[in-house]
Amino acid sequence: MAMNRTSPSSNVIEFDSSRLKLAGMLRPRGEHSPTADVAELQRRLNLELQTSLEPEHLLGLFLARLGMALPVVGLGFRHEPTDLQLELGDAGVHSLHYRLQHDGENLGDLLLHLASNPLGQTLAPLDGWLGCLLYPLRNALLYRAALLDALRDPLTGAGNRVAMNRALSREIELARRHGQPLSLIMLDIDHFKQVNDRFGHHCGDQVLKAVSTCIRAQLRNVDMLFRYGGEEFLILLSNTGEDAAERVGQRLCGAVEAMRFDTEEGMVLPLSVSLGCASYRLSEDVDTLLKRADAALYQAKRNGRNQLRMAI
Ligand code: GH3
Ligand code: MG
Ligand code: MG
Repeated sequence: MAMNRTSPSSNVIEFDSSRLKLAGMLRPRGEHSPTADVAELQRRLNLELQTSLEPEHLLGLFLARLGMALPVVGLGFRHEPTDLQLELGDAGVHSLHYRLQHDGENLGDLLLHLASNPLGQTLAPLDGWLGCLLYPLRNALLYRAALLDALRDPLTGAGNRVAMNRALSREIELARRHGQPLSLIMLDIDHFKQVNDRFGHHCGDQVLKAVSTCIRAQLRNVDMLFRYGGEEFLILLSNTGEDAAERVGQRLCGAVEAMRFDTEEGMVLPLSVSLGCASYRLSEDVDTLLKRADAALYQAKRNGRNQLRMAI
């Protein structure tokens, strides 16, 4: 393969797709050229695949060109490490499954949907098509992983402050514009400093991981959990009013209390969290909303911890 782009930095190269178009190298999607031979189709595909770092776009281009040569009418793609799942085109009557790998690296599962029974046809040419896809897809997945990492707290996998601020602005805008409810919960692990002091920082880190996993398991949307600070988390409940948010908060409180955490020394640590919940009021700004949730959390702490307080 001519392109040997193995370093992540090469993923930010800007391809000039407009120039390629002018040179007649790119065709609009869906245009059929039954007479074009496979080598020519693959040559065009190779150029097209250089124009994007979006897996969905790449697979769309791949499907369009492949469909001109073989009875492939749709595809499914799944890449668990970057939480990507998509379906393109039609379902077809038969499917072929490929587990894509490169140097032991998982590049996802590809399902090609065929309009006719593949038996009796030679499927060997598919190798050439998949070869076109390999490096562009790998780079796109690397880029996607880097984008996701930039928004995630590495220890807990929860969203970081950058992700949180973005989500807050987006959700408040939605609530303001469409009048839909929005609630947030601030959650703080009780007496967490004692865990560090008694069992060490490593154990503290394990507790942070375990609590965030426990919270995530209780939530519908995993993207709405953010690590706010050291042992504080923020849960953003989109389209959720006060009553429903209160139920979620109670559930989280109960779930952490019920979880079992064993230290490496074999001791069972009792864990609990305190929570403050606030629901968005029309024309309120982000800071005021956060302050109200924080004040409710403070009340929960003062009131003896291991409980939820609703903001006033
Ligand atoms: P409270 O019940 O009032 O919340 O008490 P607390 O001990 O949980 O709260 P405090 O704010 O006194 O202590 C929080 C501790 O969290 C102090 C800090 O060293 C620790 N911490 C912050 N970030 C991390 C981290 O990433 N890993 C570990 N292990 N500890 C952390
Ligand atoms: Mg704290
Ligand atoms: Mg704490």
